[in-house]
Amino acid sequence: MAFAALAAGCGGAHYQSLDGQTMGTSYRVVARCPAALEPAGIEAVLSRVNASMSNWDDDSEVSRFNASAIGEWMTLSPSLREVVGTALALSTMSDGAFDISVGALVDAWGFGPAPARDFPDDTEIETALARTGYRHLELLDSRLRKTRDVRLDLSAIAKGYGVDAMAAAVAGQGCTDYLVEIGGEVRVRGHSPRGRPWGLGIEAPDGSGSAHRIVTMSEGAIATSGDYRNFFERDGKRYSHTIDPRLGTPVEHVLASATVVHASAMWADGYATLIAVLGPEGGLAFAESRDLAAYLLVRREDRLESRATTAMAALLAPED
Ligand code: ADP
Ligand code: MG
Repeated sequence: MAFAALAAGCGGAHYQSLDGQTMGTSYRVVARCPAALEPAGIEAVLSRVNASMSNWDDDSEVSRFNASAIGEWMTLSPSLREVVGTALALSTMSDGAFDISVGALVDAWGFGPAPARDFPDDTEIETALARTGYRHLELLDSRLRKTRDVRLDLSAIAKGYGVDAMAAAVAGQGCTDYLVEIGGEVRVRGHSPRGRPWGLGIEAPDGSGSAHRIVTMSEGAIATSGDYRNFFERDGKRYSHTIDPRLGTPVEHVLASATVVHASAMWADGYATLIAVLGPEGGLAFAESRDLAAYLLVRREDRLESRATTAMAALLAPED
């Protein structure tokens, strides 16, 4: 997500900003508050989210679940319960295009915490596929267990959840206008330092960081899933970190990015990944059928093609 309209204009003196590192990327807060922002409060929220959902921390709650025995119930913390519930809902509604249990495949393709190995062969993919499937998970109230040796991977929505948690912490410090961001997933409220609703850029998928279109918002979240930031190339072919769990391989279609606007950053993040798996046609149809505000960038021979759902068209600033 590129930012537009962040330069402090008139009235900007009341805004403060804060930034740092979390979840293998950077975070940032820009906010208008009655008193100085407490960095410790924000850091504590982010540490809690990581301690709960990070696959990179062997002691995190999710890692402990992944290491737990088949059939053993584990009681989840309220935050992990919420994220697991959302990820299971996304898995069910997409029939496994989004899959909370994609961890073994993510590892096999070298996008997880496991040290990068060689390109996986068919046997490795089959093995990982056999360890995939949200239907092998049972969530009962706040208890979760697996009926097969599946590995949870919450990376597709954890950043969004972290953004929501940060927004709550910033609002809890009395800030009335703010932008919070983790690695491109953003949530805003009120006005930017320019005294107007926040202008948020939908990033051009060329890695330049420049804005392709601007969405104007005074309340809500925006998240993008793209094939242009986390991928590797082999024999001239691009392998994205978005996996199609039904096939066991990285997605291969021409969708460069999917951007979703939603009240919740966790849902925006999850839907963006889900649409990225479904691809240009299926993703657009899914988003339209659920009245989601979604924007898809599709690679064509020599140009980029964009498609906005009806709900998204209403939010886009006019093109230059
Ligand atoms: P980004 O980190 O670029 O914002 P996403 O939000 O789309 O991207 O999350 C991508 C991550 O989600 C991958 O690195 C992987 O851990 C996980 N993932 C990949 N494919 C799927 C899938 N089909 N369902 C759920 N999670 C996935
Ligand atoms: Mg996502």
